[in-house]
Amino acid sequence: MDTEKIKTAVKLFLEGIGEDPQREGLIETPDRVARMCEEIYGGLSGSAQEHLSKQFSVDNNEIILEKDITFYSTCEHHLLPFYGKAHIAYIPNGKVVGLSKLARAVEVYARRPQIQEQLTGQIADALEKYIAPQGIMVMIEAEHMCMTMRGIKKPGSKTVTYAVRGCLAEDTDKQKMFMEMLR
Ligand code: ZN
Repeated sequence: MDTEKIKTAVKLFLEGIGEDPQREGLIETPDRVARMCEEIYGGLSGSAQEHLSKQFSVDNNEIILEKDITFYSTCEHHLLPFYGKAHIAYIPNGKVVGLSKLARAVEVYARRPQIQEQLTGQIADALEKYIAPQGIMVMIEAEHMCMTMRGIKKPGSKTVTYAVRGCLAEDTDKQKMFMEMLR
């Protein structure tokens, strides 16, 4: 990450909105924002493969559900936060990963400029690629600040997205079960 570029950009941005970047409250803001970017956009240099490569063998391939994985992301259209919960279910094919690793994988894709539909698909694709389970379902529910603090201003409204892969794509019974488990 090029922190000097971020600092210059933030200074210009502040000037652009008519602020004085030299005033006391703002003087260190470019530096603070640059440091924050390392964290909130850190997923750009992260690797889901790294988190998902440590696997355990299992005998029974029953559905595994990790729900309520809290995440924070940034809408790439407005650079405002969107945040909520990701729920991941998969039917293993002899291999599983530690539950915290799923949350780590979510972070890799959430901590970058993002759109929710794409985030949902990227998580499902990463699981497919690195764990190769029989089936995957990912559901994300999120609130978008670009819809609540500006524009149509609908606080509390949630956007829900799904991605389904493998055997779960045709299995509506299992999809229903997934939805029931989320209640
Ligand atoms: Zn937006």
